[in-house]
Amino acid sequence: MKLYNTRTRQIEEFIPHEAGKVSMYTCGPTVYNFAHIGNLRTYLMEDVLEKYFRYVGYDVKRVMNITDIGHLSDDADSGEDKMLLGAKREHKSVLELAKFYTDAFFADCKKLNIKRPDVVQPATGCVEEFIRVIRDLEKKGFAYKAGGNVYFDTSKVKQYHVFFNFKEDDLEEGVREGVDKDENKRNKNDFVLWFTKSKFEDQALKWDSPWGVGYPGWHIECSCIAMKNLGEYLDVHCGGIDNVFPHHTNEIAQSEAYLGHPWCRYWFHVLHLNTAGGKMSKSSGGFLTLSKLEEEGHSAMEYRFFCLLSHYRNSLVYSEDNFENAANAYRKLKSRALALTADGAVDEAGFAKYKQQFCDALDADLNTSLAVTCVYDVLKAKDIEGATKRALIADFDRVLSLDLLKEEEKKQDEGGLTDAQIEEMIAARLAAKKAKNYAEADRIRAELAAQGVVLTDTPAGTTFARK
Ligand code: AMP
Ligand code: ZN
Repeated sequence: MKLYNTRTRQIEEFIPHEAGKVSMYTCGPTVYNFAHIGNLRTYLMEDVLEKYFRYVGYDVKRVMNITDIGHLSDDADSGEDKMLLGAKREHKSVLELAKFYTDAFFADCKKLNIKRPDVVQPATGCVEEFIRVIRDLEKKGFAYKAGGNVYFDTSKVKQYHVFFNFKEDDLEEGVREGVDKDENKRNKNDFVLWFTKSKFEDQALKWDSPWGVGYPGWHIECSCIAMKNLGEYLDVHCGGIDNVFPHHTNEIAQSEAYLGHPWCRYWFHVLHLNTAGGKMSKSSGGFLTLSKLEEEGHSAMEYRFFCLLSHYRNSLVYSEDNFENAANAYRKLKSRALALTADGAVDEAGFAKYKQQFCDALDADLNTSLAVTCVYDVLKAKDIEGATKRALIADFDRVLSLDLLKEEEKKQDEGGLTDAQIEEMIAARLAAKKAKNYAEADRIRAELAAQGVVLTDTPAGTTFARK
């Protein structure tokens, strides 16, 4: 299988460190808000990669962190902790906030058929490990104390910028905005491994450490969680393109300083989902969620299909029109798949021929749109019968996870809500609103929308309609 590797900037043959096994690490969400559909694009394409590894027979272990200890927009004192801001905004404790949005994230993933990683590790559960690694970096001369914080000294590594030969001021589009001025830093790119009280007086989560009471920087989190769960050699590290710098650059610097040898071989980055107005981003506030799409009558599978139609290394523009086109195409495709009758017996040679085309598409740097084309090719094939077609589509869906043959099953599962159940949920939503728990109110609305029930708020109360 061939994959583009951001680190070498080449398409390479994928060869895992240990034959037959793949260790895979994914930067998980910062849980201070709902994931937007751009974040979900990244997780969705990573899901296809993971499933394709499994499909071709690898034994995969995938690990994801949950960033629940703050996530600074920068290391300078002007930086704001997004978790803390979110907790204040929603009158929750930081841990309540993290739990709420972690659950919401996995609920979205479930709807999108994104498999849960084998290990999901919240950063708050690993602080001892961070301290151990930071101490070791300090011992090895890669870290220094300044102004109460512990910094990683980027001048001590042979090559800091491993992804691009860029001039510092000339970062690629989509790459996280620059590095900030911080008087404590010896070098411009140095970054914080451990903050002490010098950062925020009101920091909610703090731990004792050899450097004083404080909390870890963001980058150390991923390196430690990956190494702890996947060992010294990592095969694939994934994330959105904005993670390349500084996050992944810093992860590499500190992990390789700690290990004393190369760490991760393949870097898989998904380009952004943009709107006509630019990049979709969590911190800017204006973003679309999966629940919003569902409220508009769309299904999670339509969004999955929309994403699969584009290559992960192209940025994807979301507009109502192009999403609507994809959604229509999905519904048609699914009804054609469901209409297949299981004629004849499965023809092995025919099955192998189309399966090969499917693998060829995904072997070529995960060409998902070509893989979807293979589904169309199977549907219109003249040389195989219904039973073979159904078997192929079911087989492809182990990777595509588009539920192409699943509708009947799903309908039975869902059953549909009774009027009394809907009224009960409307009452719960009203109670949530009264308690100013708007996130919960929104969640209830979205849950109803997912079942085809649309609410209308009127001065006299809330009414509902079934679609
Ligand atoms: P965050 O929760 O902000 O750490 O982001 C979670 C994941 O989504 C990271 O891998 C980001 O790189 C990725 N991401 C952020 N914005 C976008 C976007 N507009 N399109 C695709 N992926 C994104
Ligand atoms: Zn990370």
